[in-house]
Amino acid sequence: MRNNERADHKGAHRAAYERNRKRILITQRVCGICGKPVDRSIKSPNPLAPCIDHIIPISKGGHPSDIENLQLAHWTCNRQKSDKLFKNNEPKEKVILGNRNLPLSRDWTKYRSKL
Ligand SMILES: [Zn+2]
Repeated sequence: MRNNERADHKGAHRAAYERNRKRILITQRVCGICGKPVDRSIKSPNPLAPCIDHIIPISKGGHPSDIENLQLAHWTCNRQKSDKLFKNNEPKEKVILGNRNLPLSRDWTKYRSKL
């Protein structure tokens, strides 16, 4: 198992994440990934246990704790989703844009910061 950076489980986002997690467990009824009902009486390690899914994964730039980026999901659906994301991820190389590729849309010699 990968040791992911779980920014939602530490630091400033933790309190917001916990609050939103509880709210989702109370208000949502269906899995955001497969669309089927989630039985909240099922407990992990059952694969149909409820869990909180990041709609846009943190590793893809999704918000770690905003309720807009969180949804109810089955544990197994969440697991399969992240497996897929990792498979898609691996063959690609990161594209690095050098400073020289920035468009010359502005005369920076006349630029003044608003701050
Ligand atoms: Zn599901």
